[in-house]
Amino acid sequence: MANQVSEHRCGGGQQGLSAKGDPIMYEKQIEQLVVLQKVDDEIILLEAEIDQAPKDVAALEARHETLEKRKQQLDEKLDLLKEQKKKLEVEIEEDSVKVKKSKSKLMLVGTTKEYHAMMREMDSLEKLNRLREEEKITVLEENERQNELLDDVNGKIKELNEELAEKRAGLKEKLGAAQGDLDKLTKRRNKAGKAVPAPILGRYEFIRSRLAHPVIVPVDEAVCTGCNIMIPPQDFNNLQEGKQILSCPNCQRLIYWIEHIPEAAKPKALQKD
Ligand SMILES: [Zn+2]
Repeated sequence: MANQVSEHRCGGGQQGLSAKGDPIMYEKQIEQLVVLQKVDDEIILLEAEIDQAPKDVAALEARHETLEKRKQQLDEKLDLLKEQKKKLEVEIEEDSVKVKKSKSKLMLVGTTKEYHAMMREMDSLEKLNRLREEEKITVLEENERQNELLDDVNGKIKELNEELAEKRAGLKEKLGAAQGDLDKLTKRRNKAGKAVPAPILGRYEFIRSRLAHPVIVPVDEAVCTGCNIMIPPQDFNNLQEGKQILSCPNCQRLIYWIEHIPEAAKPKALQKD
């Protein structure tokens, strides 16, 4: 009983896993289970691919959003500079007009005191305007700097848009192809499943739903390649007889003797180790 899967709800225990003691039937069933698993390996990879593909596009979209925000900040800054420049120009113009008016009135003043007062006022207005001109130069320089940054961001956005358009088109194609492959695999899976008696298939599905992939593994030199633990000698003898589909007493995966189907090799999930 040590080689029996502890779970009884599905598969009906050891009797249910029997291939009626026929070695040819037994090998055919193991073979189909291995095929089933290969198909499942491919399905897992495909599903991971289908899962990952939109994430690549989403990462680009996030970068795009960040750049758009940066662009908005720069636009706001440029608007502010434009306002500053306009305000300075208006002030310069207004005070220039005042100075001109004062100059034309200068000859008409009656007293020296009044004359000096007007001169002083004109001087201070002109001084103020010189400061404003300097400030305007600073504003124009800053404007140029911000415009360069904006050009840079716009260039990046353009590049990203092209990359996104390409990725989105590629994604559609990729998902379409992957879905086609998935449909084919599902058909192959159903076909392999039909060759396996329902209780054994049930056991396979049961283990698959509860354990990490793979579900069926070869036993090599009495060691289960699923968990790398040696199986008891009596179980190994039973396995070599090839009459019953057994489970590893340790990890519960379905097991077969590697010499029965040497060409099946290791499942993909184990090759990664
Ligand atoms: Zn095991």
